[in-house]
Amino acid sequence: MLTNVVVIFENYLPELIGSLFVAHALFFFGQNDKLGKNHLVFASFAFLVLTFKDLFNVIVLSGFITPFHSSASNKIMPAMRAAASALSAILMVVGGFEYSKILGWVRKPIAYLFAMLIWYFLTYLALLPFVSRFLPDIYLSIGLLVLALFFCFTRFTSQAYNLRFCGLLLIALSGYYVFRAVKLDLSWPIETALYALMILGIYRTTIRQLRKETQELTKELKQTKEKIPMMIQSSPFPIIISALKDDRLVLVNDKACSLFNIDKNNIKQFRTEQYFVDPNARKELLHKLSMSPSIEGFQAILRKPGTQEAFWLDISATVMDYENEIVLYSAFKDITAQKKHEQDLFEKAVLDPLTGCYNRRQFQELALKEIRQAWRYNTQFCLMMMDIDHFKSVNDTHGHAFGDEVLKMMARVCKQTLRESDIFARFGGEEFIVLLTQTDLNGGAIVAERLRQNIEACSVPLPTEEMFKFTVSIGVVGSNCSDDLEELIKRADDALYFAKEHGRNQVRVYGEKENFEELKQTALNEEETTSNLSEKIIEKATESKE
Ligand code: GH3
Ligand code: MG
Ligand code: MG
Repeated sequence: MLTNVVVIFENYLPELIGSLFVAHALFFFGQNDKLGKNHLVFASFAFLVLTFKDLFNVIVLSGFITPFHSSASNKIMPAMRAAASALSAILMVVGGFEYSKILGWVRKPIAYLFAMLIWYFLTYLALLPFVSRFLPDIYLSIGLLVLALFFCFTRFTSQAYNLRFCGLLLIALSGYYVFRAVKLDLSWPIETALYALMILGIYRTTIRQLRKETQELTKELKQTKEKIPMMIQSSPFPIIISALKDDRLVLVNDKACSLFNIDKNNIKQFRTEQYFVDPNARKELLHKLSMSPSIEGFQAILRKPGTQEAFWLDISATVMDYENEIVLYSAFKDITAQKKHEQDLFEKAVLDPLTGCYNRRQFQELALKEIRQAWRYNTQFCLMMMDIDHFKSVNDTHGHAFGDEVLKMMARVCKQTLRESDIFARFGGEEFIVLLTQTDLNGGAIVAERLRQNIEACSVPLPTEEMFKFTVSIGVVGSNCSDDLEELIKRADDALYFAKEHGRNQVRVYGEKENFEELKQTALNEEETTSNLSEKIIEKATESKE
């Protein structure tokens, strides 16, 4: 028993503890090495295999487990030791190759294949019945030597000098295993010392590297911090850095000072919040920043405090660390002129220049949207077509310019009578169109009649200071008449035509029973004189009744 303890202590413990620590040290180093960690992980596993090999031996020797029959044990145990050493050696070789980075990913598989072949070859040897006692140590010394060479010739890391030192120790360790294999009696203190030096060497390398990296980072950080105010000042854009915690201004460049009327010597009293015309815009900005730390192209209207001078800004904002607090870096670009130009273009594209109400194209776009909404929510709407009565004679009698005044008055009265949500547009000439949202046919007829009365009641002053009065005819159609906008417009037009036919200055609703009856009657009575359009209306009325 005592001899076993001595054997364990002298033959296995130095390698067991030593390889365990070396494995850890290499792994730890791998986490911090800029070259990546694969190579050191392989090397680390190589030493871990040694640890397990020794652990197994120690357990067997201490008599806790007797895995094999004693006669078999004499052969199997050395074979297993050899296999473990071979595996460890292979891992060292692979680690060495990985470390050298001389093999690109294309050639890597070849290296692995090569390593596998060696592994099979060595294991085959190891498992031969006549196992040589020195074979395991020879494997190890080869593996260590390869790893050592790569460590020694490394040129890639800032710690090359320290790694070379570790490489030399690996060579020494490799030498030790050769000596042990040929049974030169080198005692356990030498093995212990070699392992201890290895461990110290690798830890030292790692710690030195960490220290160096930290120093570099600190220096970089200091330089960046010193540069920030300078960079901000020289930026072509107004820039504000504000604390996220309390919105206090931390750093402001001259351009931002003049844009926002900020007193450069007293920036702490200002808050970015006070510049937003709409507080919700700022909330939205912060909400976006809560989703992503950096945003670009956020547009908002801001204002100089104490003035009414508002301007459109394009804001790029980034949340960052500055002087030990979380700040918001905001760069601004004045886009007021661009916005005004866009607005002008938009108005030109969608508004009628004479009356200021929507033009026909915009009406169609908005109406289609509204119709889709009505389908979705299953609501009704009405379409109203209006045409000024005898407008041609207004032009002929009082001139075109006065005709324009009448059109403007017509638009004004309509806007006053209709709701914000109704879509009102000039359809062309002296024809106007309205989509009454969320209104049934009955409601639509009432609105149309009110509109007709309001127009009848208003007047436009003539140059002679006499008051000119005009009237309008209106055709109304309900949404249940058709799903198609063009079709609805046509039917409202039919109803309008009907109103014109029946004396003007009146409202006619398409689809009203008495209208159709009357229409039909008229059409029959005036068969000779009725236009094709009337025939069409009869057809439609009949269709509708069916
Ligand atoms: P009805 O009662 O049947 O509608 O008769 P009307 O004279 O109003 O009908 P018509 O469609 O024949 O006349 C429309 C006139 O509107 C003809 C055109 O000169 C005039 N007009 C169209 N656009 C404008 C405009 O922008 N300004 C002015 N002043 N007149 C316009
Ligand atoms: Mg007309
Ligand atoms: Mg007309």
